[in-house]
Amino acid sequence: MKCAPFDYVRAGSVEEVVKVLGEADGNGKILAGGQSLVPVLALRMARPSVLVDVNRIPGLGSIRPVDGGLEVGALVRHSSLVEQTHYPLLAEAAKWIGHTAIRSRGTTGGSIAHADPSAELPVVAAGTGATITVAGPSGERTIGAEELFLGALMTSVEEDEMIVRVTFPKLDGWGFAEFSRRHGDFALVMAVVAKVDGVARVTLGGVGAVPVRATSAEQVLAGGGTAEEAARAASEEIEPTADLHGTVPFRRAIAGEMVRRALAGAGID
Ligand SMILES: Cc1cc2nc3c(=O)[nH]c(=O)nc-3n(C[C@H](O)[C@H](O)[C@H](O)COP(=O)(O)OP(=O)(O)OC[C@H]3O[C@@H](n4cnc5c(N)ncnc54)[C@H](O)[C@@H]3O)c2cc1C
Repeated sequence: MKCAPFDYVRAGSVEEVVKVLGEADGNGKILAGGQSLVPVLALRMARPSVLVDVNRIPGLGSIRPVDGGLEVGALVRHSSLVEQTHYPLLAEAAKWIGHTAIRSRGTTGGSIAHADPSAELPVVAAGTGATITVAGPSGERTIGAEELFLGALMTSVEEDEMIVRVTFPKLDGWGFAEFSRRHGDFALVMAVVAKVDGVARVTLGGVGAVPVRATSAEQVLAGGGTAEEAARAASEEIEPTADLHGTVPFRRAIAGEMVRRALAGAGID
């Protein structure tokens, strides 16, 4: 199937994007790497009246270390996250995104905005407590990652707003583990462990509509429990659904194992 017709605007600034989206009154879409949007258009699951291409906007493609953390522009490609050395958790997680062609086009802002429940960057953002800066008609506002993801493919970014950067905080330690059926597939389950200000945060992807904090597992760790006990708590507290790829007990078992591996990566046993 071919896309439904749309107007195309190549924006030169964030202000222009916001203006065009506002004029489109909910029928405009930002085009970044196109790796998720173009298939959606081709299947006619979306029929925007206008596409606003943000790829030529200057200043959105840079990675900047800040206060021990990392500020990532919306247009930073997944492949650049793999290559950077300031924030090893992001480098590791981004390696698991799709294939080379997808990593070389797909963007950080696009992945966060698309909010796929099995995508790596939303789980890293929620898992580390990253903040997302969006630009809209009244200027910029900042949203905590855990408030951003509302459901599968749904965020609190408004129709006339654009994500301009994501800021990941300083970590004292991290771990990442993912299970997928074949290399390059979306994750069945992934786990992110992020030590922030001495506290271990445990977050899972692929087990719900949004990234899921494994708070029971975190409490086990805070109470001096072992990684094994925390992994068991995580697998018991989640509420995954069965699908073609696995039953509920299978997903629980994999989730526990991913948490155990991510904790080991963070030096917690
Ligand atoms: C075969 C295949 C395999 C894939 N495997 C994985 C995988 O394993 N893991 C994974 O995480 N992803 C995977 N992806 C998706 C890929 O990571 C995409 O790059 C990403 O989801 C979207 O980024 P994009 O820049 O391509 O965004 P686009 O496709 O251009 O846009 C996606 C959505 O986000 C909106 N948007 C884009 N940028 C912004 C912004 N700055 N502000 C507000 N809204 C914005 C668009 O309007 C659109 O609704 C895969 C894709 C394909 C085709």
